[in-house]
Amino acid sequence: MASQRKFFVGGNWKMNGNKASIDGIIQFLNAGPLDPNTEVVVSPPAIYMEYVRGKLDQKIGVAGQNCYKVEKGAFTGDISANMIKDIGCEWVILGHSERRNVFGESDQLIGEKVKYALSQGLKVIACIGEKIEEREAGKTEEVVYRQMQAIVDNVAPDQWANVVVAYEPVWAIGTGKTATPAQAQEVHQKLRAWVAKKVSEPVANSLRIVYGGSVSAANCKELGGQSDIDGSLVGGASLKPDFVQIVNATQ
Ligand code: PEP
Repeated sequence: MASQRKFFVGGNWKMNGNKASIDGIIQFLNAGPLDPNTEVVVSPPAIYMEYVRGKLDQKIGVAGQNCYKVEKGAFTGDISANMIKDIGCEWVILGHSERRNVFGESDQLIGEKVKYALSQGLKVIACIGEKIEEREAGKTEEVVYRQMQAIVDNVAPDQWANVVVAYEPVWAIGTGKTATPAQAQEVHQKLRAWVAKKVSEPVANSLRIVYGGSVSAANCKELGGQSDIDGSLVGGASLKPDFVQIVNATQ
């Protein structure tokens, strides 16, 4: 991790938990201790976000797992960036591989969501990542650059401080198959070089690019020690006390 970028660890709870289990997570998060040099954000199911925000230490951010691209209207089942802000939360995850691959969200829609969320002052964790068949066909770079282009097209020059990119190879999410630190570092380094070319050197140097895909207490230190990996986005392990160790990976 390069020193000018604050280490970032996100916990994506996905569609898991109930009030009783969430109380347990809040307890271990509030007890920590969490490295003050790491920015921590957790993402509960939408229905529990306000509950979590009310009980969680204010030092820990709370993110939506998704939101739509307009303020309000006839979009049954969805929530808006404005609603996330209204309940006191400041982050949203957009473009998660499950949104892309289970719910069929396109690069274009994700770009539009990024644009709207940023315009409303939300901070965005924008996710990208290739499928196994794309990696095996040698298309990893082509895929992640295409996904990044749809994001870059929707971020204004002064909004980059509000964006964290999560590189999450789809084949590593929830599978227990982590990319090796070298595999992850290679993609992160290429993404940073791509951002330097397509956006600017200063943005590339300051943009946090975090890794996601079966991050655990056992592998977080080695992953977090790579020069272009600025933290992690954690699914399964973010529901367990191990998450505290992942937050503290650079200690
Ligand atoms: C995720 O959901 O973003 C994720 C990386 O999940 P897991 O850590 O369970 O692979």
